[in-house]
Amino acid sequence: MSKAILPGATVGVLGSGQLGRMFAIAARRMGYRVHTFSSKSDTPTGQLCDVEVTASYDDLEAVQNFARGVDVVTFEFENVPAATVEAAATHAPVRPSGEVLHITQNRWREKSFLAQHGFPLAAFRKVCSLDELRTGLDEVGFPAVLKTAGFGYDGKGQSKIQGPGEVELAFQSLNGQEGVLEGFIDFEREVSVVGARGLDGAFVHYGVVENEHRNHILDVTIAPAAVPPEVEREAVAIAQAVLESLDVVGVMCVEFFLQRDGKLLINELAPRPHNSGHFTFDACVTSQFEQQLRAVCGLPLGSPEQLRPAAMANLLGDLWQDGEPNWAAACAFPDVKLHLYGKSTAQPGRKMGHLTAFGDSIEAAKQTVCAARSALS
Ligand code: AMP
Repeated sequence: MSKAILPGATVGVLGSGQLGRMFAIAARRMGYRVHTFSSKSDTPTGQLCDVEVTASYDDLEAVQNFARGVDVVTFEFENVPAATVEAAATHAPVRPSGEVLHITQNRWREKSFLAQHGFPLAAFRKVCSLDELRTGLDEVGFPAVLKTAGFGYDGKGQSKIQGPGEVELAFQSLNGQEGVLEGFIDFEREVSVVGARGLDGAFVHYGVVENEHRNHILDVTIAPAAVPPEVEREAVAIAQAVLESLDVVGVMCVEFFLQRDGKLLINELAPRPHNSGHFTFDACVTSQFEQQLRAVCGLPLGSPEQLRPAAMANLLGDLWQDGEPNWAAACAFPDVKLHLYGKSTAQPGRKMGHLTAFGDSIEAAKQTVCAARSALS
């Protein structure tokens, strides 16, 4: 096994958003140096890093220079081009591997991989033409959801197709990109499992959490989810098997639809810390960000134990509609932690920060986090 990369070493992060920021906080706390690479400057991650490199992901010379200056490379954003990862990998280990990134950055490859390995999924078909969409709909049925295969997140590049009259418009919305058609799932709720896998194959997880979305964007996470123990066991077993079959070194989130009959279907994978694991920053012995650091550095993983029931609420740019939110009002809730990502412009739908609240029960934690968020405006 390779030697552990110890405190004092430098970790390179491809991507520069809030996930990299929280990763950098965890890494700096443990005495690592952090460099970040993205096409932007004064970024949420860069503000916390020793070095912020601003260059295009296609500038492979800049990527190689970046990788030369660090001991290991990880990413916080899965839409990094494969060539960028390959260029980085010539100078430093990249964890998780470029192969994990390659599979999970494209819905078609991800679903095909999961289907080949026997994981439960909604029916899906590849769509490159209007004819393929029509054939796919004959097989999958209405309603269905058409998504771009690549570069989609938070419901971007998605359209629901209710009936034959909506087929052409949905196809046009792909804008010439390859698509994936999925059967629409009338789920009972959405849940996820964030897990971490070490360089030695050790696996830890944060249990099952429940995710409520608004406009396709995660709104509130409740941890732990109120699901029967058999659902919990099944979701964790699937998540562990997914991380093992992809040979992940790092953190991965497996998002599920929980159907009304209690069966789970995988919606999608995220090969990095995930919004539904933000509560771990405050609520767990070892956060998902520290776990990512430990995994990619080849250190033993920490305890994922959750100390209290918790709920997380995202703060989107919409909250700034009438000016700066009233931060003091949220801080007046003693069981609430405020996280802001250092983004200078608040656009509607943009993730600007989050709140985490604790309670004696998940209901109490959820009520508190929602009350604190309401107090902001
Ligand atoms: P995604 O980006 O694929 O995770 O989609 C964002 C959200 O859209 C999900 O969290 C669901 O709330 C909803 N959604 C996506 N795909 C489906 C589907 N096949 N059936 C029902 N809802 C879906």
